Amino acid sequence: MYILKSKSQLEKAITKAMKIRTKVKFISFGVYSVKGTKGNFYTVKCERIGNEKQVSCECLGAAKGLVCWHSACALSLHVAIVRQRQTV
Ligand SMILES: [Zn+2]
Repeated sequence: MYILKSKSQLEKAITKAMKIRTKVKFISFGVYSVKGTKGNFYTVKCERIGNEKQVSCECLGAAKGLVCWHSACALSLHVAIVRQRQTV
C-alpha cells in the first residue's frame, strides 16, 4: 500500500504498464483486477481516506510500499471513471 502524492510517482510504473498492455477489469468503484505477466490477477484498490489517496495492490512490490505497474494501470482507469462521474 502506498499514498499517492503526485503523478510523477507513477511515471515509471506507467511506462512499464504501457509496454505490457495488460487487461484491467472493473470490479466496483475503486476496485480493479489487473492481469499480471504470468496470467495471474492482482486486485488493486484505490481509495480516498481524508485527504490522502491510498492505493493498494496484492503484489509483493506494493506490499513493500512500491508503486507497481498494476496499480498504475488501475489508476488510469480509476481516474477516467472519476472524471466521468463528475461530468454526469
Ligand atoms: Zn502490484
